[in-house]
Amino acid sequence: MQPLQIQNSLTRKKEIFKALNSPHVGMYVCGPTVYSNVHLGNVRTFLSFDIIYRYLEFIGYQVRYVRNITDVGHLVGDADEGEDKIGKMARLQKLEPMEIVQKYTNDFHDVMRVFNILPPSIEPTATGHIIEQISAIEKILDNGYGYEVNGNVYFSVRKFSEDYSYGELSGRKIDELMSNSRALDGQSEKRDPIDFALWKKADETHLMRWPSPWGVGFPGWHLECSVMSTKYLGDRFDIHGGGMDLKFPHHECEIAQNVAANKTENPITYWIHGNMLTVNGRKMAKSEGNGFTPDELITGNHKLLERGYTPMTVRFFMMMGHYASTLDFSNDALIAAEKGLSKLTNAIEALERLEGTPETNPSVDVSALSQRCYDAMNDDFNTPILIATLFEGVKWINSAADGRFNLGTEQITDLKTLYSGFMKDVLGLESEGSESSNRGVEGSDDIASNLLDLLVELRSDAKENKDYAGADRIRNTLSDMGISIQDGKEGSSWSHE
Ligand code: AMP
Ligand code: ZN
Repeated sequence: MQPLQIQNSLTRKKEIFKALNSPHVGMYVCGPTVYSNVHLGNVRTFLSFDIIYRYLEFIGYQVRYVRNITDVGHLVGDADEGEDKIGKMARLQKLEPMEIVQKYTNDFHDVMRVFNILPPSIEPTATGHIIEQISAIEKILDNGYGYEVNGNVYFSVRKFSEDYSYGELSGRKIDELMSNSRALDGQSEKRDPIDFALWKKADETHLMRWPSPWGVGFPGWHLECSVMSTKYLGDRFDIHGGGMDLKFPHHECEIAQNVAANKTENPITYWIHGNMLTVNGRKMAKSEGNGFTPDELITGNHKLLERGYTPMTVRFFMMMGHYASTLDFSNDALIAAEKGLSKLTNAIEALERLEGTPETNPSVDVSALSQRCYDAMNDDFNTPILIATLFEGVKWINSAADGRFNLGTEQITDLKTLYSGFMKDVLGLESEGSESSNRGVEGSDDIASNLLDLLVELRSDAKENKDYAGADRIRNTLSDMGISIQDGKEGSSWSHE
């Protein structure tokens, strides 16, 4: 069996996974900032880590999964200036900030449930850890990597980089950062423009405020994740995840804070970054106006949608892309996902009804198929290849259901274990009732070919978005399966090698 390998964003290499304290695994994922309804892009990131969480547990690890709620400190503009996102919404809606937090935390939880995304083991909030954040700042100051100016405390990137390296995760060079970042208005009290806030002084209008050794204020955005991850997972832990857009500055600053506070080098072994859900090649975002909510997707009530799709169809659609590649939303892709999912669901239902024969069918090797399912997931959680592999067994099941083929009783039992394990436990696909499972009418060959068409399309999208690593991954993995992609004037196509 292939060992589990993870593409580590920190080292930019695919590495064999070794837990610090096996069978325990500590995993931290940056959660939502609860100032608005989650959109489908956010869902993609949490779904990607849901699959990673599920698979680690499936292969026997005991995962302590910490996913936070950001309820203070995340400022409009994602840097050190501007209003707090939650404070601003509270002002606009004339509500208490904690009413905003509660309202959108509830929405977030509802959405997670709809998409069958498992709750984390611990879901800490930033406002619940102000004391810990203050003591982390004190440690950073004691160690000489921070300074206070006028009730604000900043992290000194220059001082830190004299002793440790800064910029490794995002691949940014400290000299370039120093020369490229210009001093912004209101940031002049920073010694260097790339320094970032650990604590901010609250002016009279600022709603969320706490007393501290530096006066009344609130914590910097990056600090909460440093503090809550190490509090629950230790100074060194296994996996840290989040969306690609958080790599810099958020995650880079997190690493620097952890090292500066605890003097632990390499505090996190594996960094995993999920790629973005895009619409016509642009990142889905609230500010772009292209972010529809899960509700709109299910009802079909949005200008980008031809009709509604069930939550499991959306889940399946998202898993047809690899978490590290961009995934472009389209009605066609959702329709293909809907057909593919119903074909799989129908086959699993047929499998339940199958009666086996005493003799096994020598042309069917369930354990080899199962092995390839594990291999797909062990190769950096490659869900598209897992799905393509699951379709291979569908051919056997459908042939047996049509009476064209026999399957031994034991083979049927093994197939049931395989499909319930990978479909339910790993991919988290729950049955949605008869309506969705009655739709599939095409043969599994048609489905496989639709899926291949879709993969080729996803590769072209990846290339268009300059995600060459993602495009190559699709080409190479298909090539390993004996399928080659040809690029021509009319577009790309696939064929068996
Ligand atoms: P936020 O609430 O803005 O902090 O975002 C919560 C999570 O959703 C973060 O991990 C983001 O990286 C992620 N995210 C935001 N937009 C997208 C998108 N279009 N596709 C995938 N993930 C996203
Ligand atoms: Zn974070």
